[in-house]
Amino acid sequence: MAGTDDRSAEFEALRNLSTRVGADPLLVQAAGGNTSVKQDDVLWIKASGTWLMNAGRDEIFVPVRLPPLLRAVADVDPAAEKAEAFVVAELNPGGLRPSIETTVHALMPQRVVVHVHCVETISLAAQANAEALIGERLKGLDWAFVPYCRPGLPLARAIAERRSAATDILVLGNHGLVVAADTVAQAETLLGRVCGLLARTPRAAPEPDTDALVRLAAGSDYRLPAKPEAHAVATDLQSCRIAAAGTLYPDHVIFLGEGSVIAGPADTAASAAERAMAEGRDAPVEILFPGKGVLLRRDANAGAEALARCLADVTARVDGEVRYLTAQDAHQLINWDAEKYRQELTRRMSARLQ
Ligand SMILES: [Zn+2]
Repeated sequence: MAGTDDRSAEFEALRNLSTRVGADPLLVQAAGGNTSVKQDDVLWIKASGTWLMNAGRDEIFVPVRLPPLLRAVADVDPAAEKAEAFVVAELNPGGLRPSIETTVHALMPQRVVVHVHCVETISLAAQANAEALIGERLKGLDWAFVPYCRPGLPLARAIAERRSAATDILVLGNHGLVVAADTVAQAETLLGRVCGLLARTPRAAPEPDTDALVRLAAGSDYRLPAKPEAHAVATDLQSCRIAAAGTLYPDHVIFLGEGSVIAGPADTAASAAERAMAEGRDAPVEILFPGKGVLLRRDANAGAEALARCLADVTARVDGEVRYLTAQDAHQLINWDAEKYRQELTRRMSARLQ
C-alpha cells in the first residue's frame, strides 16, 4: 500500500505532466483533454471547464468515489452521466465538478489515465477508414478503436464493449486518444510513443494575406486571430474544402459552432456573416476566406482561439475521405447540460483574462 508521501509525489508528477501536456496545442486545446489518478477508492479527475495547462497554478482536480461510479456505469444509471453524485465533498472545498469524460477514466483499470485531443490522432480518427489506418500504425500494441459516441454514458458503454483487460490505448473516433499506465512516467512514455506512431507531416500552407483580411474586416465585428497558425485552414485550399464539408470533432461544435462558414470571392466579413445569419445561424465565430486566411468574431474567447488553430492543424493532416459528425451528433452536444456548464466556465475564464 502506498504511503501518504508516495501518493503526494504521484500527484505532483501528475500535475507536472498535466501542465506540460496542456501547454502543447497539438495535444490539448482550451478546456479539452483530461488526466486522472486512482488512489485507494478515489479517482482524482480534472474538473470540468478547467484547463490542463493551469494544473500547476490552480486546483483542477476533483475527487470521485470509484466503486459506486463503476456500478452506476454497469447499471446504465443516469447518475454516471456527470458523476457529480459521487464527488467526495469533504475533499472538494472549491466545489469543482468532474470532467464530462470522467467515466472514460473510471473504466480504465490502470492508475493513471491521460486523455488528449491530439491533432495527429484526430486527423486519422476522423477519416472514414480510421480503424484500419490506425491499426497499421499501432500494430502490436494493446489498443482499441471506439467509434464516435457523445461523451458521458454513451461513450462509457461503447468503451466497455470494445476494450479488453490489457487494453491501455483507446482511440476515440472523431475525438482523440486515451493512454493508461500504472505510473505517471509510464503514461507519459506511452503517450509520446503513440503520438509519434500516429504523426504525419502536415501539408505546407501558403502565407496568409493579412492586408487583405484587415480590409475585409474593416467596419465589421471581425478581427485577425491571435494565433497566426489558424490561417492555414483557409490558405490551403484542400484544408478549406475539408472544413467546408462539415464538423470533424466535438469541441469544434462547442467553441466555433457547427461546420465552417466560407466567404465567397466578393464577400467581406460583414456580408459573409449576414448571409450565414440569413440562413438562420448565429453570427459565425470564424469565417474562412479561401486563399487569404481567417477572421474571428471580435468577442471570440480563448477557447475559440485555440479551436480555430486546431482546425488548421487537424485539416492539414487529413488526406482521405472524412467521416463527419452528423447534425444529430452536434445537436446532442449543444443541448447537453454538462456541456453547457463547461462552456459557461470558459466564458467566465475569458472574461477574467480580458
Ligand atoms: Zn475528449
